[in-house]
Formats: sequence, structure tokens, C-alpha cells
Amino acid sequence: MMAKKWLSVSVMIIVLSVFVLAGCGGTNEKETNDSPGGATEPEAAASLLDAIKDRGKLVVGVKFDTKLFGLKNPSNDEVEGFDIDIAKALAKSILGDETKIELKEVTSKTRIPMLDSNEIDLIIATMTITEERRKQVDFSEVYFKAGQSLLVKKGSAIKSIDDVKKGTKILAVKGATSVDNIIEKSPEATVLEFDNYQDAFSALKAGQGDALTTDNAILYGMMAQDAGYEVVGEPFTDEPYGIAIKKGETALVDAVNKELAALKSSGEYNKIYEKWIGTMPLE
Ligand code: GLU
Repeated sequence: MMAKKWLSVSVMIIVLSVFVLAGCGGTNEKETNDSPGGATEPEAAASLLDAIKDRGKLVVGVKFDTKLFGLKNPSNDEVEGFDIDIAKALAKSILGDETKIELKEVTSKTRIPMLDSNEIDLIIATMTITEERRKQVDFSEVYFKAGQSLLVKKGSAIKSIDDVKKGTKILAVKGATSVDNIIEKSPEATVLEFDNYQDAFSALKAGQGDALTTDNAILYGMMAQDAGYEVVGEPFTDEPYGIAIKKGETALVDAVNKELAALKSSGEYNKIYEKWIGTMPLE
């Protein structure tokens, strides 16, 4: 009789433990899924837009080495360009002051990981909207239209994408759409990948490749840095730029799109465009 009682008590303890353990496991799993950043109460967390307003600063990932879009001026350490002016306009509309901004350097390869790890609120860095990237981030409306081209030393035998053949050495940047695009257009070419655009341009100047490929708008900036190089041929892809935002932050996406539309309707967008690109936008 006694033994039977002990047996049922033991069974009850085991059953209870299993329930408690299963419960704990479930809770942990949920926390891990909901808040990779480690916040314990994801439900209570404000939207990223609210967090930006609370902190009083917009943190934007921009290029530091891309003339016309985001280039750090070594004489005063200011970062300047088209993307920077768009970033400042967003700080002004969200926080009422364009100086309430921190610009952090990203490269084509580091920008999405930095957004994922909450180091930046937005990516405004010559970034093409693609279906592949839409799986990882949300995008604003298109704010700039570029297309991929080739930059060569003046006098080069390469005059367009048709001259890129087996044995042609093409320089590109890791994490850029340009790499996959050139492999698709000219599968026979040899593609050398660099960490950033200044390294790729230095390699072209050092004769390590026959052409550098990326968006025409970026290549025009390189031409402005060294008149010995020119953009050849027509653009062979469409590269619509978007501002990237962490997935699910719809309030921030809406605030960004609202300001982009306001910049266009006020004429401010055209002024920024002309200031950096030298012409008015097509359309
Ligand atoms: N727009 C292209 C891209 O998003 C090339 C420019 C860049 O590397 O940022 O990949």
C-alpha cells in the first residue's frame, strides 16, 4: 500500500516537472524569436520611430568613400553628398532639426548586417531595391534612379559591355548588385571583388583590372576625382535606389516616404539633385 502511494507521488512529480520544463522552454524560445537584440519585453517596446524621437537623434548608415553620394572630406571630416542631404532632410522632418543626426560608415557588404544589429536606423547608401534584398529589409519608395556601367582608363579598347570578354578583368565591390549583374552579362569575364569603392578605384589606377563596374552615378564621381578615366557605353541594368529600414517598422517607412514626397513636391529634391548630379532628374 505504502509503496503504491509513493509510486503515484513520484509519477505526479515527474509529470509536473515535465510541464514546468516545457513551459520554461516555450518562454525562452519565444523571447529569442521576438527579440534578437535581447530586450526582455518585446511587446512593451516602442516602434523604432518612437525610439528615434525619444533619443532625439537619427542614426544613418551612409557611404564615406563615394563622391557625389557620401564622401568624407578629409579637410573638415564632414561627410557630404546626395545621400547625406536626403538623410539631413529626414532628420529635420522627424526631429525638427537636421543636425540631430549621426552618420555611420557602411560599405555595400556591411550595410544590411549593421541594420540587423540595430547599429543604424536607416541605410541611405546608393542601395538598389531588389527582390532578394526585400526578403531581408523594407524599402522606401525609389529616391534615385541609376544604372550599371563601366569605368575605364581613357583610350581603353573597352567601349561598352559588348567588349567585356573572356580574360577581361573587371573590378567590383563585395555586396554590390554589380557583381551578380556583370557575371550574368559577361559570364566569361574575371571579376575581382574589393571591400569598398576607393580600394576598387585604386586597383583600377594601379592597372590591376581593365574596367571598374558599378552604378553610373558612382562612376561619374570617380571621373570627377580623376579625369584620366571615363564612363563608357550605355547603362546595362536598372538600379533604383531605396532607403532601407529594418523589417516591420511601418511607422518609420511611412515617415520616410512622406518626407520623400514632400521633398519632391516642394522642389527641394530637384535642388539636391542638381547640386550633386549637375542636371535635373529625368521624368
Ligand atoms: N546600387 C548598387 C547596390 O546596391 C551598387 C552600389 C553599391 O554598391 O552601393 O549594390
